[in-house]
Amino acid sequence: MKHPYLKSQPDEKGYFGAYGGAFLPPQLVEEFERITEAYMKLRKSHAFLSELRRIRLHYQGRPTPVYHARRLSEAIGGAQLYFKREDLNHTGAHKLNHCMAEALVAKSLGKTKLIAETGAGQHGVALATAAAHFGLECEIHMGEVDIEKEHPNVVRMKILGAKVVPATHGLKTLKEAVDSAFEAYLAQLDTAMYAIGSVVGPHPFPLMVRDFQSVVGLEAREQYREMTGGELPDHVVACVGGGSNAMGIFSGFIDDDVRLYAVEPLGRGTKLGEHAATLSYGKPGVLHGFKSILLQDENGDPAPVHSIASGLDYPGVGPEQAYLHEVGRVESVGASDRETVEAFYAISQMEGIIPALESAHAIAYAMKLAKEVPHDAILVNLSGRGDKDIDFVVENYGVMTWPSEGDAS
Ligand SMILES: *Cc1c(COP(=O)(O)O)cnc(C)c1O
Repeated sequence: MKHPYLKSQPDEKGYFGAYGGAFLPPQLVEEFERITEAYMKLRKSHAFLSELRRIRLHYQGRPTPVYHARRLSEAIGGAQLYFKREDLNHTGAHKLNHCMAEALVAKSLGKTKLIAETGAGQHGVALATAAAHFGLECEIHMGEVDIEKEHPNVVRMKILGAKVVPATHGLKTLKEAVDSAFEAYLAQLDTAMYAIGSVVGPHPFPLMVRDFQSVVGLEAREQYREMTGGELPDHVVACVGGGSNAMGIFSGFIDDDVRLYAVEPLGRGTKLGEHAATLSYGKPGVLHGFKSILLQDENGDPAPVHSIASGLDYPGVGPEQAYLHEVGRVESVGASDRETVEAFYAISQMEGIIPALESAHAIAYAMKLAKEVPHDAILVNLSGRGDKDIDFVVENYGVMTWPSEGDAS
């Protein structure tokens, strides 16, 4: 029998093929070994897994439903579209799946504090939520520029009891927030754990976060089979920033004869700086403690990126995504800013669901794919809700009607 994929990857050093590993400053090597050792035990611990199940059922609102989007499918006139409703998670996105579990790992290690960086504030809010639930302290580092831009999430974190630390050097955005958070972590190794926000960073985080997100795919597979009398979808589609919601839903179908698609943000053009399509345009390199495919400038530094979805504008991608792209198990595709906004309005008006702009990338690609494979079924991971994006969309694109006139679908 073939070895199940999830049991065979990564290797014991955290490599998925050529990608992954742990590239750490010497002061952190021991700490990450401790986390790895603890997690390898926890992942088989009945007490840990049943506590996680309890939290998901009673606090997070899992299982989230799979929904057949009949009106949208009919309007496109192609394949049948199904959504895994991660937007119905507590706090409105899949991120809580790994934040709650990371907090539980920190507690098991005897830590009393969680530290992280955040860009748009989504990871910060999810982690502050988990910290409040478990009675842990929470320190979120955020660029001064992002603090201005993402005011509502900053307020949420503070209400939840987290301390928001501004990163005031350099460009004062995400990269500086990472530097600032790591510096704080180094000074508090005895009491704090760094909680990474996607399937990125040094081993064991890509493995841990993928394990914690796999609930999305395992649930969806069972739910879809139940809805259809034992069938599987032909295609599974998810957007990719770091890759956690994608690895979550792919985990349920990776050993099946199901095509998997990673949708990257094509932004507003193909030049460096106009998109964040790492798998499509990047090359191998090391960033933030792991080896992966990265968007780099001519000096090999992380390239500037753009996407209307702030959760997708990262110049790297998780090592497992890079590996699955390289071996051809996952197809890397894209959706532009414009296509994404159209999809945002399409599912708002055809289904009564306002999606996060990140998730709208996945839906935009699924809508293109649906026309090419009219007899198939496509399952899309609807990773989050769009409340956070409504002002931005309306200010920049106005209120649109879907389908727009002259756009005969
Ligand atoms: C953060 C975020 C993403 C991107 O992160 P991944 O790790 O690639 O999943 C996607 N969707 C939503 C709603 C997010 O908040």
